[in-house]
Amino acid sequence: MPTETYRVKGMHCASCASIIEKTFEKIPGVHSAEVNYGTEKVKLNFDKTQTNPKDLSKKIEPLGYSLNLEHDHMRMDHGDIKGLQMKVISAIPMAIISIFLMVSGVMIPYLLPIMATYVLLILGKPYLLGVYRFLRYGKANMDTLIGIGTSVAFVYSLFVKPIYFDITIIVITFIALGKYLEARSKIKTGDAIEKLLNLQAKTALVIRSGKEVEISVNEVVHGDQIVVKPGAKIPVDGIITEGSSYIDESMVTGEPMPAQKKIGDSVVSGTINTSGSFTFKATKVGSETLLAQIIKMVEDAQGSRAPIQALADKISSVFVPIVLVIAFLTLGVWFFLGYGSMGLVSFVGVLVIACPCTLGLATPTAIIVGVGKGAKEGILIKDAATLEKLHKVDTVIVDKTGTITIGKPTLVDINLSPEFISILASLEKKSEHPIAHAVVNYAEEKLARRSLGKGGNIVLKDVSNFESIQGKGLKGFIDNTEYFAGNVKLISDLGISFDASKIEEFTAQGKTPVILATKEKVLGFVMVADEIKPESKQAVADLHKLGIKVVMLTGDDEKAARHMASLVGIDDVVAHVLPQDKLAKIKELQSQGRMVAMAGDGVNDAPALAQADVGIAMGTGTDVAIESAGITLLGGDISKLVKAIRLSKITMRGIKQNLFWAFIYNIVGIPLAAGVFYPIFGWLLNPIFAGLAMAFSSVSVVGNSLRLKTMKI
Ligand code: ADP
Ligand code: MG
Repeated sequence: MPTETYRVKGMHCASCASIIEKTFEKIPGVHSAEVNYGTEKVKLNFDKTQTNPKDLSKKIEPLGYSLNLEHDHMRMDHGDIKGLQMKVISAIPMAIISIFLMVSGVMIPYLLPIMATYVLLILGKPYLLGVYRFLRYGKANMDTLIGIGTSVAFVYSLFVKPIYFDITIIVITFIALGKYLEARSKIKTGDAIEKLLNLQAKTALVIRSGKEVEISVNEVVHGDQIVVKPGAKIPVDGIITEGSSYIDESMVTGEPMPAQKKIGDSVVSGTINTSGSFTFKATKVGSETLLAQIIKMVEDAQGSRAPIQALADKISSVFVPIVLVIAFLTLGVWFFLGYGSMGLVSFVGVLVIACPCTLGLATPTAIIVGVGKGAKEGILIKDAATLEKLHKVDTVIVDKTGTITIGKPTLVDINLSPEFISILASLEKKSEHPIAHAVVNYAEEKLARRSLGKGGNIVLKDVSNFESIQGKGLKGFIDNTEYFAGNVKLISDLGISFDASKIEEFTAQGKTPVILATKEKVLGFVMVADEIKPESKQAVADLHKLGIKVVMLTGDDEKAARHMASLVGIDDVVAHVLPQDKLAKIKELQSQGRMVAMAGDGVNDAPALAQADVGIAMGTGTDVAIESAGITLLGGDISKLVKAIRLSKITMRGIKQNLFWAFIYNIVGIPLAAGVFYPIFGWLLNPIFAGLAMAFSSVSVVGNSLRLKTMKI
């Protein structure tokens, strides 16, 4: 069943989220509904034959909410905020006058009741609606609490004693001001998506019947030849067919330096051409492009729920009724004791201070900022749970090829006959392994030289019954002879003799052997060497500094792996592992109580990535296996793993601070407002201060989340 995401209008608080969820889940045909107050979106899983989005929206409309059904309109509404801003501005002078009158004791007839009526009816409308919904449908949320508090003060002042009009005015103004500031900051927390969307080019210059025509980027199809002029955005993903240039990929991958791109290199949408100009063939368009996938992933992740939020959600869903009970109890007790007006003040104070609003903001706003900040650095996080888990990781497992090394090995130390190379290259041409590319590239270069008349007589031959042997190499028939190519393990499996000491001199330097053999004997070997990435050493050191154990897990030769590991400071190496053994090794570490992150290329390491607590795919170019891993590091830069862990740590710290501030207001505020300390210390929370505290708490929580944006990782 497909899940659809819609923006929800009219949410004021976390308890709104649970009201909407519960309402949806009762509708026949709806399997699940997940509302996120932070992003103001709902993820709906429903049976299209039984219901539709329009009907679903109708079901929540009486409660004061609706679904925004235009898919393009997923971003937060700036329009809603403008309206709120006008109302808040109109109310502020009235609040100031009320405070002045209250402090000075000056009386101006009719002024307070008139102002209170205006503020309650105009600015306080959502809260009055909250009271109405409570009376009509029995559903209470934050609006209900504020609504009951302020309207009770108003009605009491109007009919009994005109002493609490100022409370109505000031409390509503403060809370509306808080809401306004919160809404404004909330937009800022989500602006990473906006920035990513802005990277998308609107049009593309394509060659159609020999002419350059500008078309909408949505009309670009696979195979289109696209012309990119200096300074232009790359509209879709593809491969350069003509020309060359430097391309600024910083917005997508976080790499600061423009990368040189020539014929055959891949380009991705959303990156910016510098001064050259080139033509490329579109290979990925529309929702397949890297940028489209990044946007989708960031949106999904920002909307997902972190496990740490579960407690806050549970609390805010039962909070409102509990607070109502406490408020009425307070009123009753004071009344019973003979302090009626005291009871009324406490009643209003409890309702105002106890709003669970901040609780609902604490986690999502930090997650939104954290995920967005990651995306900016080329760290793509699949969901909030992954971001949460990452801060607890104590063991990082790295693959050698492509993670610690560049992953583009080359052939070295070859003094073998062209016949030998011909057979090996013919076999390797069938393989996708980086080692295979090294061999094939070498052979093809030789072939190209021959066409220039520079000697070499390599011939690529037909291979039949080709098979790759996992973790060891490959085999295949050429001219009725069966050949094997691979590592020492493969040769020992064949049961033929090989003097391993011959390769030790090379493996000690970190080089990997490729041995060619028939069933009967070894024909010879070549060595491939891969370069260590410049950032690997620092990244390993940084991981150690964070107290994280780094283990290299590789299918490569033990000696070669140890040499490479020692160069970057990794002390724990497990070599000669088959892909299925990688899985077992991870399980073993997990059973020792370790929290394991595994960084690999995401293609042949997929099962291990899935087994790890956090799977980290090293993405390069357009072939990013975004779906398979919890975290994708664009540009395949291992130092981003350190940043990702730091990001997780600061985000989690931010969430915990937020939750603390959200709870502390309620824990201290409720008894204070109820007058529990009054008999002993004479302390009572004036509802006006409760309103101020409310406004301040939501602003401070969102502000604290926003602060994460500027923190260095
Ligand atoms: P890793 O990803 O850790 O390198 P693999 O399972 O991909 O692990 O490969 C393990 C080893 O198997 C390689 O180091 C190499 O020795 C051998 N091997 C795999 N594929 C080939 C190939 N196409 N040609 C030669 N050797 C190969
Ligand atoms: Mg591999």
